[in-house]
Amino acid sequence: MPIKMLDQATINKIAAGEVVDRPQSIVKELVENAIDAGASAITVEIKEGGISFIRVTDNGSGINGDEIPTAFLRHATSKIKSIEDLISVSSLGFRGEALASIAAVAQVELITKTKDKLNGYRYVIEGGKEKSLEEVGAPDGTTIVVRNLFYNTPVRRKFLKSANTEGGYINSLMQYLALSHPDVSFRFIANNNNKLHTSGNTNLKDIIYSVYGREITANLYEINAKTMDISMKGFICKPFICRGNRSYENYYINGRYIKSNIINKAIEDAYKGFVMPKNYPFTAIHFTINSEIIDVNVHPSKMELRFANNDYVYNFVYASVLSCLKDQELAANVSVGP
Ligand code: ADP
Ligand code: MG
Repeated sequence: MPIKMLDQATINKIAAGEVVDRPQSIVKELVENAIDAGASAITVEIKEGGISFIRVTDNGSGINGDEIPTAFLRHATSKIKSIEDLISVSSLGFRGEALASIAAVAQVELITKTKDKLNGYRYVIEGGKEKSLEEVGAPDGTTIVVRNLFYNTPVRRKFLKSANTEGGYINSLMQYLALSHPDVSFRFIANNNNKLHTSGNTNLKDIIYSVYGREITANLYEINAKTMDISMKGFICKPFICRGNRSYENYYINGRYIKSNIINKAIEDAYKGFVMPKNYPFTAIHFTINSEIIDVNVHPSKMELRFANNDYVYNFVYASVLSCLKDQELAANVSVGP
């Protein structure tokens, strides 16, 4: 074949694969946008595991009518202006890729209204092609509906799992998101059933109860530790309720739902003397880390984080969890490990 530039629609479809691999990643991007827009209440509704229908409604800032088409362009963002801003970025998004990517591979309807305007707007874009933009009556905030994911890329659609499995991924994401933002009220509805509702009253323990129920909530130790560049606040579990899988190790870094092998290892190592091998704790910890020692610009989905000094982070987290466990288990007069 002769060498040729790809057309924009094809470029967008390919690039979309990096941001949007399944309904869960769409929900993540849309909810993070809502949080960045200052929403205090966010509702997520899905049907068929999010494959046929996702609706995210927020009461945040809304988008100005004349900026709507721009918001759907790749690399369009209101959150950073230059590469220097990346270091200090406190918003969850900043790449300006999510809306463009989602609109490239699904049918999207946006209804949005800013507080200073009497009317809102309705915008429809499908497979990257604008269909309409009109003025409509709407409440303050933004609603985005995403229908028929991958309708125009059937091969990708085939890689999706069953509606049940995809819905399960979204369910756990919603739990993480609710725990990561105790100040936001979340509602999650799947196939017209209420799955989760948090009040937004900022009490982390209330959310742990809503998400995980009585047994875990009744067996927590509070953790609260601080060093120069890092602070950690939240809850870890009593060793006896540790379980055989890692999925209860929740933690958040500067409000982001993120993974770090370093932090996982530090937490697990601290528990080692208290639990049987291959048992892992429940945790819900909020880390505040000086942005100068993190590199968030590592992966498009920003789920994995790199630190300037891994040992520093490891040592602080390990020592803090270990001393919390030792103190509390001693206080409870339980025999203690190392
Ligand atoms: P990013 O979040 O990386 O900036 P997105 O493609 O997710 O990129 O969004 C593009 C822009 O659209 C955002 O920078 C923001 O200005 C606007 N936007 C998206 N979602 C919302 C929302 N729910 N409320 C208000 N503005 C939004
Ligand atoms: Mg975004």
